[in-house]
Amino acid sequence: MVNVDAWAGEELDGLKQAGLYNHIRTIGSPQGAWLQVDGRRALNFCSNNYLGLANHPRLVAAARQAMDTHGIGPAAVRSIAGTMDLHVELDRRIAAFKGVEAAVTFQSGFTANLGVIPALVGKEDVIFSDELNHASIIDGSRLSGATILRYPHCDPAGLAAAIAEHRGQYRRALVITDGVFSMDGDIAPLPEIYAEARKGDAMLMVDDAHGEGVLGKGGRGIVDHYGLHGKVDVEVGTFSKAFGVVGGVAAGNAKIVEWLKQRGRPFLFSSAMTVPDVAACLAAVDLLEESTELVERLWSNTEFFKAEMKKLGFDIGRSVTPITPVMLGQATLAQEFSKALYEAGVFAMAIAFPTVPRGAARIRVMISAAHSTDDLEQGLHSFAEVGRSLGVIS
Ligand SMILES: *Cc1c(COP(=O)(O)O)cnc(C)c1O
Repeated sequence: MVNVDAWAGEELDGLKQAGLYNHIRTIGSPQGAWLQVDGRRALNFCSNNYLGLANHPRLVAAARQAMDTHGIGPAAVRSIAGTMDLHVELDRRIAAFKGVEAAVTFQSGFTANLGVIPALVGKEDVIFSDELNHASIIDGSRLSGATILRYPHCDPAGLAAAIAEHRGQYRRALVITDGVFSMDGDIAPLPEIYAEARKGDAMLMVDDAHGEGVLGKGGRGIVDHYGLHGKVDVEVGTFSKAFGVVGGVAAGNAKIVEWLKQRGRPFLFSSAMTVPDVAACLAAVDLLEESTELVERLWSNTEFFKAEMKKLGFDIGRSVTPITPVMLGQATLAQEFSKALYEAGVFAMAIAFPTVPRGAARIRVMISAAHSTDDLEQGLHSFAEVGRSLGVIS
């Protein structure tokens, strides 16, 4: 008989020794610039709550109101009895917001990728995938059964070479890239990637999870940022980051969206988003369409924080977005740094293998419109103190 405790225990001990064991902290407050973390008040540098919507009164009120009229659970998958008028409204509103032909929502960005990719390509097909794409793209690609060819990170010439060498052997081809890369905060060179995909007779899909609510006019995302409307076949997105709720979406070509409703497996075999989630997402779209103020504050906070971190002497990598990696190298150093920050009242998690490559461990700071200048200054002060005490900066 397999001794489960023995093998799992050994694996867990291995993680702890390598500094790769993930200690999960518990939040005892709503999301915002400050959190109760394991019972202590701390400045929040961890969440994807870019615009502060996760506890926004308008979203909370919309969720409450919708529960009065629609209850809570959808009680079915979308294709049987789980598509309420609210879901249809969100599909329509998010398509209009993004300026695409059509959109369909999923339970999460993760399930959107698991649904979309196997619906687009199969065994006779090929996927050209950026080597740093998100885990859900990797899993969706594997599920599809297509051949997966990784191209060098954000490298259109590398993509072109891969297409030239391999495209001929396959029926359909799909190029997939993250829009904003979540661990480094860099942005895919989408116009050049689009040009190569088009030349190579490949479909183009972008996962804009960290671009929605962040990039483009009023947070309309990476396609708007580059003015590529109508050129990207499908954009996958999430409502769990800037939108402050939970849920996923596939948006773009109307025929593809129609096909996803017939063949997207999480659409067919997993229940729809709940009523309060959908209503809160609709309120988030309202807010973003009404005003660009939150997006502007996010960016001014981002520019201030990053400039100050550079002045202090930190290596913040290649980020051009609110995602601010503080590069530390060894996983154990990153863990020590994160722990010292926590002692100083700053909640910023260490990120190490397998989320980032070995030896590229870091603290990832997530800037939000919810931060005040005072908050950011306090965070900078703690980074400076911990950085000096651990010899990271002088
Ligand atoms: C966060 C993220 C996802 C997953 O989104 P969820 O809605 O939280 O499941 C998918 N893709 C990328 C690129 C992400 O950063």
